[in-house]
Amino acid sequence: MDWELSLFNIAIVIVFYESFHAYLYYKSKEVRKEGKISVRVLDINEENAVTLNSIFFRNTIVFLSNKIDEKILTHEEGHTKQFNYIYAFLIAVAALLPVSTLLAIPAILVGKYLLWKMERDADLYAYSKYNIKYESVAERPKSKIDRIKAWVFDSHPPDYIRKEDKYYEKKNSLIKLLLKDLFS
Ligand SMILES: [Zn+2]
Repeated sequence: MDWELSLFNIAIVIVFYESFHAYLYYKSKEVRKEGKISVRVLDINEENAVTLNSIFFRNTIVFLSNKIDEKILTHEEGHTKQFNYIYAFLIAVAALLPVSTLLAIPAILVGKYLLWKMERDADLYAYSKYNIKYESVAERPKSKIDRIKAWVFDSHPPDYIRKEDKYYEKKNSLIKLLLKDLFS
């Protein structure tokens, strides 16, 4: 195993991830403090928010528009409490890729699953702590291909799944929700 290459890859991942978070932190302005969480705004007219949860930048939520949506805030607060699985995963992949580039294929699946899991955990946090469910007018697509696309290309589970009551029942695992959605 080529340890030097692994260490080099890990360093690249950390530098990129931390720089991205540093950029969001220093470009944004603090508008509010919620306990130890800094709520900041970087107005690029995008109705979304990013939670900084890296090694150097933590407990920080950056809204990408001037409008602080309280519902999004509860979801992002959930992210501040999470272990950052995706970051740990990226570091692990960076370290292991020199062993075999074939690992990239299962890695994409695992990465996708971890993303969904982190998003759903944040949704469950907002629901259990603030009783807030994700709201959307999205309808479940009739075509299976469109449903597959919704699962694959969105960073969150699809909106038409996130608004459903069964999504907020812990016993329904994401895999179960996915299979049910695709095969019924
Ligand atoms: Zn999220």
